[in-house]
Amino acid sequence: MEHVTERERREPAADEPSVRPGFAAEARQLQSVRVEPAEREAVFSLRDLAVLYSGSKAVEGVEFDLYRNEITAFIGPSGCGKSTILRCLNRMNDLIRGAEVRGEVRYHDENLYHPKIDPVQVRKRIGMVFQKPNPFPKSIYDNIAFGPRVLGMKGQMDEIVASALRRAALWDDVKDRLKQNAFGMSGGQQQRLCIARALAVEPDVILMDEPCSALDPISTGRIEELMLELKEHLSIVVVTHNMQQAARVSDRTAFFTVDLRANETQRIGKLVEYAPTDKIFTTPDDERTEQYVTGKFG
Ligand code: ADP
Repeated sequence: MEHVTERERREPAADEPSVRPGFAAEARQLQSVRVEPAEREAVFSLRDLAVLYSGSKAVEGVEFDLYRNEITAFIGPSGCGKSTILRCLNRMNDLIRGAEVRGEVRYHDENLYHPKIDPVQVRKRIGMVFQKPNPFPKSIYDNIAFGPRVLGMKGQMDEIVASALRRAALWDDVKDRLKQNAFGMSGGQQQRLCIARALAVEPDVILMDEPCSALDPISTGRIEELMLELKEHLSIVVVTHNMQQAARVSDRTAFFTVDLRANETQRIGKLVEYAPTDKIFTTPDDERTEQYVTGKFG
């Protein structure tokens, strides 16, 4: 999402008088208005998405578009299907026995689930970072080089590794100990290493499943800064339980909840509301969203 630039906020257009009645009040109001670009490119389009585990529905009826160069946050109570939907975006559910995806997931307007699509290539384009940092028991260098080697990426490996570490804001921390085991790093550094590992294969999207929930506030702040830098070049979808995090970093937020069916045993996750993050946190349309973001439920 594009924000009104500082210049646009402060300077009237050339054909406007520089001062007119009410301008100051209007200008103050403008500071909280975000400008929607006329055309926005959808990276993912989900239509009537449902996911079943062993024949039992976990989520249904999910429809939205996720946009390029944006951070989209998924929020909602535990079990409402946030991770399940996230995993649909890079076919990670293929790896879960008994999982079945119904409906449509389009990625840059191609059917992500078409039989001709190679899930390995999908996961190269659409990387994933998990809740707990999960470096390989290898050196820092080999963690980053692993993906590019497997994929036979061309180029000088030292440069690929250095570039990924720089983009993950980790280079200065580790440039003198690239051959050391990744397990010697702090938790926050390990998570940035996992982000660097995802970046090394030049992804178009990074999916993050509660990437900061195992980190302290300082490491969390660094990951959030990194996310804001990275979205200039790619798109990010993040599942988070941390409302402040969703409000701080995301452009749009999707709020999900669990629908209890008549017998109260079948819990099905549903998308309640999807909108610019400001709106979700200040003037949501649905009462359930308001209750959740104000901490009254969930
Ligand atoms: P959230 O991320 O919002 O906490 P999940 O996507 O993890 O929700 O879970 C949604 C529902 O799907 C839950 O009822 C959960 O028990 C079920 N579920 C998630 N993963 C699996 C799995 N691997 N096998 C069976 N059921 C699962």
